[in-house]
Amino acid sequence: MTALLEARNVTKVFGAGLLSAGETVALRDFSLAISGEQPSVTAIVGESGSGKTTLVRLLLGLAAPTSGQVLFRGKELTTLTGDDRRRFLKDVQAIFQDPFEVFNPFYKVDHVLALPIENFGLAASKRERRELMESALSAVGLRPEETLGRYPHQLSGGQRQRIMVARAVLLRPRLIIADEPVSMVDASLRATILNSLLTLNRDLGISIVYITHDLTTAFQISEDIIVLYRGAVAEAGAVGLVVQTPEHPYTRLLVGSIPAPDPAAAWQGERVLGRGSGAARLIPTGPSFCAFHDRCPHAMPICVEQAPPLFQTDPTRVAACYLARDSPVVAPEQMTRILAGTRP
Ligand code: SF4
Repeated sequence: MTALLEARNVTKVFGAGLLSAGETVALRDFSLAISGEQPSVTAIVGESGSGKTTLVRLLLGLAAPTSGQVLFRGKELTTLTGDDRRRFLKDVQAIFQDPFEVFNPFYKVDHVLALPIENFGLAASKRERRELMESALSAVGLRPEETLGRYPHQLSGGQRQRIMVARAVLLRPRLIIADEPVSMVDASLRATILNSLLTLNRDLGISIVYITHDLTTAFQISEDIIVLYRGAVAEAGAVGLVVQTPEHPYTRLLVGSIPAPDPAAAWQGERVLGRGSGAARLIPTGPSFCAFHDRCPHAMPICVEQAPPLFQTDPTRVAACYLARDSPVVAPEQMTRILAGTRP
């Protein structure tokens, strides 16, 4: 069955220009397919420099891969025109980190909701337009009478972000790509916004790709998870397996970094060599090696000779680590099949 949106062996290299000091790989041989039939919630987790932003830009057609393909309903995304392009713009919606940037402070918030209705001809009258806006706001838990008619600065950050979710819902998309949607709102509102996304998934059958640096919220809302490190998949699979019994040393580091609710409890993280946490550097093109070798307490000679392939350590999990080298090797594009196995 043709996927709604698919990244197939996608690599993105930056810095190939005349004035650049050298090329760096932002994303390496990445594959993922989102079904148009079976709604899913997939989390993509990584720190700054892991390739998350590049991946979002590729999936939205805002950048072209250096190699590989991004396909919408089987057609190359960057070459879509006419009705195909229009269908993509309707079926795939994005929600970004900073909702304030999307609002024009001189317009009431009604404006951001009215625009897609007009652009896609969704309402035949003002009354119909108002009904559509009200129903989208209600779908994300906002009261229309307390939201419409206000200016952006009169609403909280959480309300503004939920309006962006409502805006995405208006078009009845098949997929929402949510790029760090709760990183700029108060902790108290995070659950509300994430629950809005989950409701859309369950009630309206909208798939969610949730991009985040936060393993905790990824665990709360997703079915499957992909952990990226310096542009490559470190570990991927069913979220319960990956978070509760991580196999890749980087995933173990992330899990160990989650603050324990009990202040008396010992910190569970692994000892990590080299640099501390923080922005991961992109890796240059050229000889391949495990991107985590300079921080890994288990590094072996083979880790700097060749990048580890994906080892399938469980029917619903892969890990790119030589510690799992007794397990069968799978091609990156097989990850899609393995992730699909995590869904009911
Ligand atoms: Fe560590 Fe080697 Fe595994 Fe990389 S492949 S995470 S360096 S053990």
